Amino acid sequence: MTRLALRFVTSLVVVALSWPSTIQAQAGDHAAHPLELTYFGAAGWKITDGNVVVLIDPWPSRLKYGGGGHPDDDRPDFARTDLAWSDTTLIDSLITEADFILVHHGHFDHLGDVPYIARKTGAKVIGTETTVMILRAYGIPNDQLYAVGGGEDYQFDDFSVRVVPGIHSALNEKHYHDTRRYDRFTELEAPLRIEQFIEGGSLSFLARFDRHEVLTMGSMNFIERDFEGLEPDILLAGINGSRLGLYDYDRRLLEATGFPPVVIPTHWDNFRLPYGFSQQPNIERNLLPFIETVGELSPGTRVIMPVHLEPFTVR
Ligand SMILES: [Zn+2]
Repeated sequence: MTRLALRFVTSLVVVALSWPSTIQAQAGDHAAHPLELTYFGAAGWKITDGNVVVLIDPWPSRLKYGGGGHPDDDRPDFARTDLAWSDTTLIDSLITEADFILVHHGHFDHLGDVPYIARKTGAKVIGTETTVMILRAYGIPNDQLYAVGGGEDYQFDDFSVRVVPGIHSALNEKHYHDTRRYDRFTELEAPLRIEQFIEGGSLSFLARFDRHEVLTMGSMNFIERDFEGLEPDILLAGINGSRLGLYDYDRRLLEATGFPPVVIPTHWDNFRLPYGFSQQPNIERNLLPFIETVGELSPGTRVIMPVHLEPFTVR
């Protein structure tokens, strides 16, 4: 990107950041039913239409884990042998209620805080069998848990969700591949070690709110044929470095999802850092090039750059 282009895109981002926190998705009667979204970082969201509160992969704890952190982050590092834990004080300050929790896969940055949040809120949790087995180990009652594999389309009061089969990000230069699954014969004892939060297969969700359909992603990857025809008006697009190892990712994603009017990047931040640390390197590496690409491929799409914990509405 040229410096001029970068300056142009940066000014776009500033506009997005300083936007009066209301974005028009589609004209017409959407205005009466705005959707409020709050980004928790990683793939984590709170989304509400005033009727239901839906959490997606909520991970406020953001434990320090492995490399890639910041020298000023003096918290202990949760190396492989440490037991997972949740920052319940922080979670309590951010999350008071939830009706549903959608879990894309079982890794700790998606599922790690769900045991505490599910117990606290009584929310219904929808995820893979692996996800459900982990939550059962934490004592979450079965009537809160919905094990799905992809292809289900469930109607609840005021909310419906279609479960979309997915694939995990092509981590480790595309060498990542994990076929392990938990089932009812697996013996798990909570609290788990972080490494016991295995992927267990990956999902996306088409979450149908009052007059808005949000297609969620928890990875920088997707199965094209399973996205085709969904036509969400809001896409939570997995945008991180590993997508660059995939063929023509941005174009295929926008095309398969019907060039959504609103695209919101997700899972683009450094989730090993607590809130408040600068995410500027990830903004420059992940978001700015993506915003520029979307501008070229889908000029009618508005890209919203979310800021941690700052709610915004889409009308
Ligand atoms: Zn993962």
